[in-house]
Amino acid sequence: MSDQEAAKLNAEAAPHPRDEIPASELARAIGPEADADLHGDPDDPDPTPSATEASTMTAWRVAKALLALRIQVDALAPRRNKASDGTIGDRRHESSASDHNPWVRDGATGVVTAMDITHSPDLGCDAGTLAAAFREQRDPRIKYIIWNRRIANSSAVGGAPAWGWRRYTGANPHDHHIHISVKPEPASYDSQTAWALPASLKTVPVS
Ligand SMILES: [Zn+2]
Repeated sequence: MSDQEAAKLNAEAAPHPRDEIPASELARAIGPEADADLHGDPDDPDPTPSATEASTMTAWRVAKALLALRIQVDALAPRRNKASDGTIGDRRHESSASDHNPWVRDGATGVVTAMDITHSPDLGCDAGTLAAAFREQRDPRIKYIIWNRRIANSSAVGGAPAWGWRRYTGANPHDHHIHISVKPEPASYDSQTAWALPASLKTVPVS
């Protein structure tokens, strides 16, 4: 990561007041209340921490591991569409069990441990290429990913082995963006270690 990118990451990691959600960080694909899709893993037996902890925080920020990932993706696909990008869920969903809520606590600051990255194959960022890289590399920071009606958890859950695909049946098929959740421990969510990504995120032809 360049000095310029490191400065960008530090700026983006500064806590926001609880009521301040920049448009660039709002998770857009959770949907209205009635058909909310919280981007969770329905088979995870322990989706802790408790969502009720969110009510006492005074500020929030995004996990540094995810900010580092986004900076790398932006460098690989600088013209990519960001229409479905987002991190934090809106206030309507804050009491729900979603990694898009700042429910991991760092003192009085809540940490968002999920990020959506837009599928933008025409502009150099194919979410399927990203998903394949994550499953191949098995980065220990990842909790689970959701892409194109499938979910893969880094642990063995729901009868599937670690990193195995399972069908995802949430209201949002996740075919316009990939969801990435990182684990709730600081060594995972705030690690700024470079992600092992391919040299290009363009569409990989199916042979
Ligand atoms: Zn998501």
